[in-house]
Amino acid sequence: MSVPPHRPEMVGRFAPSPTGPLHLGNLRTALLAWLQVRAAGGRFLLRFEDLDTGRVRQPAYGSTRDDLYWLGLDWDAEYRQSERIEVYAAALEGLDTYPCTCTRSEIAHSIQDSAGAPHGAEAVYPGTCRGHANRHPDRPAALRWRVPDETVCVSDSWTGADLGQNLRREVGDFVLRRGDGVYAYHLAVVADDAAMGVTDVLRGADLWEAVPRQVALQRALGYPQPCYWHVPLMQDFRGERLAKRGGAPSVQALREGGADPAALRAGLARSLGWEVGEKAELADLLEVFQKSVPG
Ligand code: GLU
Repeated sequence: MSVPPHRPEMVGRFAPSPTGPLHLGNLRTALLAWLQVRAAGGRFLLRFEDLDTGRVRQPAYGSTRDDLYWLGLDWDAEYRQSERIEVYAAALEGLDTYPCTCTRSEIAHSIQDSAGAPHGAEAVYPGTCRGHANRHPDRPAALRWRVPDETVCVSDSWTGADLGQNLRREVGDFVLRRGDGVYAYHLAVVADDAAMGVTDVLRGADLWEAVPRQVALQRALGYPQPCYWHVPLMQDFRGERLAKRGGAPSVQALREGGADPAALRAGLARSLGWEVGEKAELADLLEVFQKSVPG
């Protein structure tokens, strides 16, 4: 148990996708990211990850902001990825990519047909379009990154876990820009974290396995590597992870229903095993955070 050092150069962020109202799990992650940065005296950013416009819900921008303010969180700058397309286009220029016209079902079939196809593992793109001859000139092309044939090893500062992934074998050449022109999450997140000077990425544990891909992109682009902190996902009473699509109750509904933010802060803290009273102010939580989270 140590007190995190004062690190005014720390930059952290909360990066929600505005696809619907925040649920309690999203809010807990935002709270932890905020506590980490404010405990160190650093800068906190709010970044809307809204590149996939088909999934964006306009009211989610406002309700997310209102939810965060209601809990007492503030931020030093706000961004929308949809307004930063040229940043991703420039990053893409610096990478060795190739056009791919495979459909999902073609990829699934060629994986099934190949001997030794992994069972239950994430589908690894078999590299069909690495050779020009296989491409369909009449179809819109995605751009895939020719991943380096190396094992990328990363570690997590929250859980202490280590992960090594051979990108060529375990991930395959992944898409950086879709056939419809939308830049992929991995590229945008890496380009933005670098451009915004993010030093510490605190986010949900569902993204832990994405770290080797993101670190490989950072290395290829000459970006610094931030420190990673993957926090547990909140579960419902059945032990299933809360999800917007799963109908988890929204923070907006609690807020508009007159819930007490001090009680909610305490509840979120207790769900992490922290010892707090029935109600908690952010100052209380900053104190607990400083005592219980490694710096
Ligand atoms: N936009 C992602 C999400 O809402 C988070 C991305 C990140 O923190 O790297 O799950």
